[in-house]
Amino acid sequence: MEKFDLAIIGGGAAGIVAAISAATRGKSAVILEKTPSLGKKILATGNGRCNLLNDRLDSSHYNPASRGLVDSVFEKFGKFEMLGFFEKLGLSVFSQEGRIFPRTNQAASVLRVLELELRRLSVPLKFNFDCAGVVPTPGGFTVSSRSGDTVKCKNAILTGGGKTYPSFGSDGSVYEIARRFGHTIIEPVPAVVPLLVRDTLCHQLQGQKIFASARPVINGEVGPEVTGDLLFTKYGLSGTCILDVSEAISIALARQAKTQVFVAVDMVPFMSEEALKEELKRRWNQVPDTADILAGILPNKFGPALRPVFDSGIDAAVNSLKHRLFRVSGTCGWNEAEFTAGGVSVDEINTGTLESKKQKGFFFAGEVLDVNGQRGGYNLAWAWASGWVAGAAE
Ligand SMILES: Cc1cc2nc3c(=O)[nH]c(=O)nc-3n(C[C@H](O)[C@H](O)[C@H](O)COP(=O)(O)OP(=O)(O)OC[C@H]3O[C@@H](n4cnc5c(N)ncnc54)[C@H](O)[C@@H]3O)c2cc1C
Repeated sequence: MEKFDLAIIGGGAAGIVAAISAATRGKSAVILEKTPSLGKKILATGNGRCNLLNDRLDSSHYNPASRGLVDSVFEKFGKFEMLGFFEKLGLSVFSQEGRIFPRTNQAASVLRVLELELRRLSVPLKFNFDCAGVVPTPGGFTVSSRSGDTVKCKNAILTGGGKTYPSFGSDGSVYEIARRFGHTIIEPVPAVVPLLVRDTLCHQLQGQKIFASARPVINGEVGPEVTGDLLFTKYGLSGTCILDVSEAISIALARQAKTQVFVAVDMVPFMSEEALKEELKRRWNQVPDTADILAGILPNKFGPALRPVFDSGIDAAVNSLKHRLFRVSGTCGWNEAEFTAGGVSVDEINTGTLESKKQKGFFFAGEVLDVNGQRGGYNLAWAWASGWVAGAAE
């Protein structure tokens, strides 16, 4: 049986770049992919546009626990190396407020140039290889699939992703492989995900989008404020400012079993409390119906929906508009989350190489690790960079 220098378990963003990195150095690398094609998730990124990187790339955009590891990887393969890598593959990119996209605005272009590079480097691809186990053998590992296929290799990299959008292939099954080597799995929870809220306002205003600020409030502790779109939905809240606070909320609910979990929303962040109060006082006696008092400040549907808050007077209404608390009962789960918070503990991974501290010759890259980036290209950036570094290891 042929023995490869490197077996890469998972043909997503991290696995593809790991293979290119290894093959560029003359190593024989094979990609073992569970589904019949590579990079399905790449095609879905950035609403099909693929926000592949961010101009402001540094470790401050990742969860605090991971920053040492992230720094050690970006020192070797940072923003400029990533830009150079894609330029060399022939991908033109542009920056939109710091977020980097392919010029074609098509995620398919990103996947295509990566596939062409794999072909140029003659990297073998084994599809429908659903990896079930990795067993150390003298001088390497035997990797086996659920259907009984086996591959021998000197080193292996686990790039099987997290748990989001299981229909794209990654469903968390690879955590078990890491666990068997003695690795700790930080409980994975859905992040960048809409929130479930039972509040009549959500129902009344479903489909309405406003510019708002949101903060997580967990057992009375108020988290950092995020500003952006807020979308009222039938089941709760979505929009960029909700997605950005969702990781803290999801961790509190699913990992820490906190019971008092809220999002505090400022529906009028462009006016101070005093200015809003003054304006509403001015309008109070001028409008024939309180349903019209918010006309021009918020979309027309908000007036009738918020009429009851004016029954207790202007101070109470301003308080409700600027500090409305929505109790969160859950998230929309893995099928609607963009990212997994949690995964293989970074404490058990060597900085600079991404080799396991538990098993020599076994490496990790991408979302399978407990490295959680913010929205804006940081998660793909981590996948490319960690793939490159793990693929480069001797
Ligand atoms: C809808 C959506 C939009 C997103 N948009 C962006 C964006 O614009 N910018 C950004 O930075 N990030 C975005 N992300 C996050 C980003 O896509 C991921 O962080 C990134 O793809 C992770 O790469 P990965 O290679 O680690 O994992 P994945 O891309 O999930 O790849 C893992 C691969 O491993 C395979 N696999 C799983 N288990 C096995 C097994 N047992 N055996 C063999 N193969 C296996 C899977 O089939 C898959 O091909 C988005 C995510 C989603 C879901």
